Amino acid sequence: MLEIVPIPALTGTYDNYIWVLHDGKHAIVVDPGDATPVLAYLQAQQLKLSAILITHRHNDHIGGIPKLLEVYNTRVYGPRSELIPLINHHLGEGDSIEIKELGLHFDILSVPGHLPEHIAYVGNGMLFCGDILFGCGCGKMFVGTPQEFHHSLQRLAALPAETKIYCAHEYTESNIRFALLCEPGNAQLQQRQREAHALRQQDLPTLPSTIALEKATNPFLRCGEPEIIANVMRHFDLPSPPADEVAVFAALRKWRDLF
Ligand SMILES: [Zn+2]
Repeated sequence: MLEIVPIPALTGTYDNYIWVLHDGKHAIVVDPGDATPVLAYLQAQQLKLSAILITHRHNDHIGGIPKLLEVYNTRVYGPRSELIPLINHHLGEGDSIEIKELGLHFDILSVPGHLPEHIAYVGNGMLFCGDILFGCGCGKMFVGTPQEFHHSLQRLAALPAETKIYCAHEYTESNIRFALLCEPGNAQLQQRQREAHALRQQDLPTLPSTIALEKATNPFLRCGEPEIIANVMRHFDLPSPPADEVAVFAALRKWRDLF
């Protein structure tokens, strides 16, 4: 029986989740920004680390790799980028990987926008998407264009509605506060705020989310919604609507950066 466990890391600064997938014997970890809590968990559960999956090069996603490799001689999957030297299995669009120890298969999607080399892992009804898509939000556009970021999000939105989303940060509550500025009349979004608040009050994760929930509440996946477009126009004092959904996305991302 596969278990999927979020290990909170870098709490209070980046609020990362390091996802551990295990069957009681073998484990894989996704984006280990810090080795200490991962090692503690693996050792407490007596798990053998079979693989490390990396989505992109930011240190809060890769910082724990060296220490994990001191303890476990394991495969490290990640993007084709010379900026992440410890990766020993390089992946890009169209590739797939087998984690035989756990009976898992993941297809690789290239999802630029946050960083050019960012990849996502899709399989077994799960999506591990690092910093491209968050609960009710999306990552910052560090090195990318609105065009490619919007396209990446649209590709994720096209996954089956029940796909569970395991992103790398607990940002959902603040993302919802922003989303409500964009779309205050969205009843599902209001409901999501109540649910997320109740979970966080108990120190529980708001993740995983689902593609269906994000499509219903995440403004960055709803760039064609009239209420969102109207509020973008109001916020930026625009005389006419943005030219297309990419322009709405760009405006939302800019608004969110200053929120
Ligand atoms: Zn990042």
